[in-house]
Amino acid sequence: MTEKIRLATIWLDGCSGCHMSFLDIDQRMLELAEKVEIVYSPLVDAKEFPENVDITLVEGALGTDEDIQKIKKIRENTRLLVAFGDCAVTANIPSMRNPFGADATLKKVYLEHESLNQQIPSEGVPALLPQALPLHQMVKVDLFVPGCPPSADTIFYTLSELIEGRVPDLTTLSRFGA
Ligand code: SF4
Repeated sequence: MTEKIRLATIWLDGCSGCHMSFLDIDQRMLELAEKVEIVYSPLVDAKEFPENVDITLVEGALGTDEDIQKIKKIRENTRLLVAFGDCAVTANIPSMRNPFGADATLKKVYLEHESLNQQIPSEGVPALLPQALPLHQMVKVDLFVPGCPPSADTIFYTLSELIEGRVPDLTTLSRFGA
């Protein structure tokens, strides 16, 4: 029996919409399940990012110091790292705070727009980076899959090609409704 591809997915500074689109693969998930083992994901119960991952889909930008630690660990343990969706590719929505900086954003949200409990959270939350960053500014990215979110067809096509050892042709995304 051939060994299954070890697949991981993670979301960093994202809205989970890319993962929701992944679930929209629907019954084709069964086709994938014959060829891949999901070894780490919000969809499974693994607590630690494992070693020797073949493909990791990374949703979201890098928004905190914790995201930086995570993406470095992912990169060290992943053969093919995929920037999964526009937030991972360009920083997209999270980067809308970039012109103002982290401090001004936190003050606006937690002090100026809060009426009952005005305080900037400091315990149990990671520190915001000054700017939200796309993945490739911190680590090498092997494949960029744009879309907000990428369509289910795009995701299925991309994974199917990668599993077969081919580079997906994402130059004509419109045929997938992305
Ligand atoms: S690319 Fe769009 S759907 Fe995906 S995490 Fe960002 S905002 Fe959400």
